Amino acid sequence: MALIVQKYGGTSVGTIERIRNVADRVIRTREKGNQVVVVVSAMAGKTDELIRLAHEITPSPDPREMDVLLATGEQVSIALLSMALKEKGVEARSYLGGQAGIVTDDAFGKARIQSIASEAIKRDLDEGKVVVVAGFQGVDERNNITTLGRGGSDTTAVALAAALKADVCEIYTDVEGVFTTDPNVYHKARKIDRISYDEMLEMSSMGAKVLQIRSVEFAKKYNVELHVRSSFSDEPGTIVCQEDEEMENVLVSGVTYNKNEAKVTIKRLPDRPGIAAQLFSEIADANIVVDMIIQTPSSEGAHANLAFTVPLTDYEETLKLSQRLAKELGAGEVVGNKDIAKVSIIGVGMRSHTNVASRMFVALANEGINIMMISTSEIKISCLIDAKYTELAVRALHDAFELDKPPSEEFL
Ligand code: ADP
Ligand code: ASP
Ligand code: MG
Repeated sequence: MALIVQKYGGTSVGTIERIRNVADRVIRTREKGNQVVVVVSAMAGKTDELIRLAHEITPSPDPREMDVLLATGEQVSIALLSMALKEKGVEARSYLGGQAGIVTDDAFGKARIQSIASEAIKRDLDEGKVVVVAGFQGVDERNNITTLGRGGSDTTAVALAAALKADVCEIYTDVEGVFTTDPNVYHKARKIDRISYDEMLEMSSMGAKVLQIRSVEFAKKYNVELHVRSSFSDEPGTIVCQEDEEMENVLVSGVTYNKNEAKVTIKRLPDRPGIAAQLFSEIADANIVVDMIIQTPSSEGAHANLAFTVPLTDYEETLKLSQRLAKELGAGEVVGNKDIAKVSIIGVGMRSHTNVASRMFVALANEGINIMMISTSEIKISCLIDAKYTELAVRALHDAFELDKPPSEEFL
């Protein structure tokens, strides 16, 4: 008997009919002799709607109350799915994150799972029940409701799979698996059969929202094999697992884009030791993750211009903080830009091949797209560009690296 964790995203539970279909799939899995834990997201559009409601009250909702509000989306789904299962004659029990023993830190809106006390779930499974857990949420040490950041149900599923030592973690979504780029942006995107944790980590952190980055971190750390697949078909999807030799033959495996960042530039910062340390320590203390950074000396020498990117959700706070610091440090003006996008190419093959970066820059140049910032890691290159060119850039890069062709035919 295997223990399977299945996660269904918002589109997969978007209507009552789809919830019934999910129930049927869960039952089929169970009838094959497996124990099943199901993690569900809020119905499609629900979380966005709740955010809109909060913003009708205030532009900056209290973070604790925001999480109380956002967690309700998933509460609806677990109850409806459990009812659908019972209606079909299967014993099921729903759990909110906290009831399922999921304890997080207290960073409202982007909490991190710290521990899972899974005894209650195990008891239910042993009694033959299907356990239905609300994704995206937990409680902190003081029992406050917390949420895990957008897309956080993926992380709930993988963390539960790790805690329960599940045999498989299946992520059911609205596409057939992980593709070479977002299939909703480019019709030539090709489904990837197997991808390493490291490449998937880069894909997720560079914007491929098919898996939340934390879920891939958990999967890698606890060696949980993920199967990303469609809830609308029985076709096999993408296996996310440890790197094997075959994977290394691929030069570039994916193109991603991220429009959820903003750029902040501080002009004429004094060019002396300790300035960057102070700025970025304060930003880190505010729980804000900085992504790209570029520093250029100004022409007169004693000053430097510093530009960096942060998540769009942290933009206003970063701008305020930077303006205050700029004043304190006697720097020049602070300029913000929300109309930016980051396009990236990812592939383990980059480690051993030259020319990847130049091919990327040429592809963008051929489309007349200007690059504002560049950052690289061992297996990825990212360029910051004007947001209005995002889709064009994605398609140009996908074509430049011939990602529509299966890996064996790919140019190396
Ligand atoms: P769910 O609600 O099931 O969690 P998400 O909307 O969070 O689904 O993630 C699935 C979406 O991710 C797809 O509809 C697709 O548009 C987007 N996506 C972005 N990049 C990729 C990629 N490389 N492969 C597959 N899907 C991608
Ligand atoms: N409902 C949450 C969101 O829309 C969590 C999730 O779907 O994974 O971000
Ligand atoms: Mg998602």
